[in-house]
Amino acid sequence: MAKINAPVRNKEELEVEIIDLSYQAMGVAKVDNYPLFIADTLPGEKVMVKVTKTTKNFGYARVLAYLKKSPDRVENPKQKYMQTGIAPLGHLKYEAQLQFKQKLIQDLLKKAHLDLSVDQTLGMEPPYGYRNKAQVPVRQVRGQLEIGFFKQNSHDFLPLENFMIQDKRIDEVLLAVRDILRFYRTPAYNEEHHNGVIRHILVRRGYYSKEVMVVLVTRTKDLRQAKEIAQKIQEQCPDVVSVLHNINDKKTNVILGQETRLLAGKETITDTLNGLSFEIGAQSFYQVNPVQTEKLYNEAIKRAGLTGNETVIDAYCGIGTISLNMAKHAKKVYGVEIVPQAIKDAKENAKRNYLAHNTEFEVGDAESWMAKWQAQGIKPDVIMVDPPRKGLTESLIESATQMAPRKIVYISCNPATLVRDLQQFKDCGYEVTQPILPVDQFPQTTHVESVTVLERKK
Ligand code: SAH
Repeated sequence: MAKINAPVRNKEELEVEIIDLSYQAMGVAKVDNYPLFIADTLPGEKVMVKVTKTTKNFGYARVLAYLKKSPDRVENPKQKYMQTGIAPLGHLKYEAQLQFKQKLIQDLLKKAHLDLSVDQTLGMEPPYGYRNKAQVPVRQVRGQLEIGFFKQNSHDFLPLENFMIQDKRIDEVLLAVRDILRFYRTPAYNEEHHNGVIRHILVRRGYYSKEVMVVLVTRTKDLRQAKEIAQKIQEQCPDVVSVLHNINDKKTNVILGQETRLLAGKETITDTLNGLSFEIGAQSFYQVNPVQTEKLYNEAIKRAGLTGNETVIDAYCGIGTISLNMAKHAKKVYGVEIVPQAIKDAKENAKRNYLAHNTEFEVGDAESWMAKWQAQGIKPDVIMVDPPRKGLTESLIESATQMAPRKIVYISCNPATLVRDLQQFKDCGYEVTQPILPVDQFPQTTHVESVTVLERKK
């Protein structure tokens, strides 16, 4: 690419038209082909901006005035949500959010010269209040304990009462817990001095079971009047069936520490997903949007075309949620996952649901297990992959395709690595046979989840 000399100077004011929306939800304008990224702007809008930063290949600017607004703009969105990063797409109408996610995949495919179609994004109504888990920081603001959020990429703490995308009941429980902590004068954590007590409150709620778990995360081993606090929480919120105390004394962004103590009720809550029952602890990985997860899994399983006779591999299986869903429709399911506790949970969950007889779960790297299974002569009909954001490795794609499954179903949470991996699958003799289906797991945010089906070329 030719070297561009920035055609704009820092602090310069100019009028621009927004032509695109980046995957970080920034409006994009071009000045002589030089991209300017501008927060809180949408395609089609005309704005007066002031340049705030320039680099060799792109710059940033901020809006001084809107000259023409987009019909897709949500007027008066709660600005706080956007600042906090809770809802970076909160200023875009939901229909347009769904189109944005579809287009994001389409654009990446086009760039990679892959001629594939992408279905409309499968959305949800209402696109709010969907998260079944919240972990909110606690800080002292003007002498008062507050719950809230950090502005994106900063240490600026904003007190908040309505978190918009969390289950409404979770917000209510959070406020009750906040007030109880205020009553007991429990000191909030201070990050700068690494003192104080309460760092985070974590709340999980079963979508179907309605059971609630509260975890108080403290810096100190000691939480004064812990029993009284737990009792008050249960008195005020009878649906709280589990109150836990987690200790995290490290200077870290990781929310939970190693040690968890039971303060009241039970250690776990249960919930169901497509009628299967799962036990969820403070640390368990569990999909956060239950409504959309059921749709995502059903679409993936439908595309796998199971009839009851198939051998299936579920790489990246977590606590076995997809594996067990598939085990109901397959002869045998093998799952692999790198986190040992998740596999322990997966095995428990298999027993709970009377599916231990046709499932096998292994701890380890998907890549090495794929090779091991291949060496053992296991011949999967379907391989399901649901990797983290970094996608698949070349050697995983190699061993997966060498086992010659009829179908590979790829659930992706990152379109960039999906498109990269699809190119390699193509080289290994697998082609995409149905339109890629985006499923909106995270409304109001820029996350894009999708299902792709690959089949062996005849
Ligand atoms: N399918 C599950 C989890 C998907 S998230 C669900 O829907 O709930 C991706 C999972 O891959 C995480 O649980 C993560 O721990 C796991 N993982 C990450 N790298 C891995 C690797 N190299 N091998 C196996 N599992 C891995």
